[in-house]
Amino acid sequence: MTQGIWYPLAENLPDLAASLRADLLAQARVDLAGQVGRLLVTDRCACISDDCATFQTSTGYDVTQWATEEDVESVYNCLSAYGDGVVFAVRGQIQRVELLALTAQGKKFRDELHGLFP
Ligand SMILES: [Zn+2]
Repeated sequence: MTQGIWYPLAENLPDLAASLRADLLAQARVDLAGQVGRLLVTDRCACISDDCATFQTSTGYDVTQWATEEDVESVYNCLSAYGDGVVFAVRGQIQRVELLALTAQGKKFRDELHGLFP
């Protein structure tokens, strides 16, 4: 697998970053909301579904090595303007944002995501 370009979320997708931060704050996840400003989008889901805009992220820490299921946490009810969003954090670091059942705004975001990762 080749290492692609990583995109700062807040710079490349500012509207989505603002929504994500607001939704995490609304659930009192100040720890995760505080990471949004420095999140890097590292890849998108490779599936061909028109209804998926899932993407991988990094906070700059390699937390996935040796991680077990107990290290993974899911935060539901995120990005409701875009679809059904779930934030997955590994050892407290956001690693993946699953975004399915896309709204019109979510489909627009999906196109932007595919623009970054063709
Ligand atoms: Zn997918």
